[in-house]
Amino acid sequence: MINVIERIQGYLQREKIDCAFLTSTENVTYTTGFRSDPHERWLGVYIPAEGQAILICPGMEIEDAKSAGWHGPVIGYSDTESPLELLKAQAEEFKSIAIEKNHLTVERLELIQQVFGECQIYDAEHFMNKMRVIKTADEIKLLTKAAELADFAIETACSELAEGKTELDVLAKIEYELKKKGITEMSFSTMVLTGENASSPHGTPGETKIKHGDLVLFDLGVVYQGYCSDITRTVAFGDISDKQRDIYETVLKAEMTALEMVKPGVKASKLDLAARKVIEDAGYGDYFPHRLGHGLGLNVHEYPSITAESDIVLQEGMTFTIEPGIYVPGVAGVRIEDDVLVTEDGYKTLTKFPKSLQTF
Ligand code: MN
Ligand code: MN
Repeated sequence: MINVIERIQGYLQREKIDCAFLTSTENVTYTTGFRSDPHERWLGVYIPAEGQAILICPGMEIEDAKSAGWHGPVIGYSDTESPLELLKAQAEEFKSIAIEKNHLTVERLELIQQVFGECQIYDAEHFMNKMRVIKTADEIKLLTKAAELADFAIETACSELAEGKTELDVLAKIEYELKKKGITEMSFSTMVLTGENASSPHGTPGETKIKHGDLVLFDLGVVYQGYCSDITRTVAFGDISDKQRDIYETVLKAEMTALEMVKPGVKASKLDLAARKVIEDAGYGDYFPHRLGHGLGLNVHEYPSITAESDIVLQEGMTFTIEPGIYVPGVAGVRIEDDVLVTEDGYKTLTKFPKSLQTF
């Protein structure tokens, strides 16, 4: 973890920024090893360009931070104390600060400026994204485990399918079985969508009943020791139409086409364009309304976005999703999503549930 802080200090020194103050759960986890959801309380790590980083957390969490492996200074505060005033007593004066513009609220930024005085604001996000985009061996282990649990969740979902069960029945079973395995947090709200409902890419599960001839779409992921998975599978319940089958096979071909291009040195935009071309050539170009994928790590959606315009070049150790879909209202909604790791000479999918059309 020290290594991460040293790299941030290198960035601060190069850019001549006095300090960084990171407040997102994910960047605090990344820099200190301590993961906490502080709700409305302050959580942050203050990193001066030179000297020791200080973790700021609710006083009641100090012991948790130490057992998570943070051995540096900690400022714990009670509900009647101001964490910023306590920090001011220990921090150097600063005239410039790097924060996460995407995360720190305007209210909090104003408070920082009230306590520390007017200062130049920089965005730490770009540097953090670039550092986090290449995963370490330890991170890959956790992402692999998170993906295995996502596969398990899909297996559970499939074994629960039955005529007349609702989307929410299946969803409840998935999350119940995961809880029994020690998973307390999903990486986003689990989606189980059947029939008509699946033709909205971001539909909401409800009381719709599964019936013969439906395609059923599951999109879910777990958080395992801070790291996220994100998988989508679409399966058939009973006999489906030729049109539904054609849509499924087109999405699968698009996904495989993009996957097989993954290796270091390839521009991310090429993957999106290639998958999109498969779908366009099959006549469904109007029905693939979203990007091909997104980075995956401590956040379920993180840098980089895999779009037709991403200029990022793939490198070994990157992890992201590939998830083409076709959504034709009244006919079918199909998406297939895998978690992908860029290896030295190609790729590995971390999610492994079969992709040939599964019928139940
Ligand atoms: Mn997903
Ligand atoms: Mn996704």
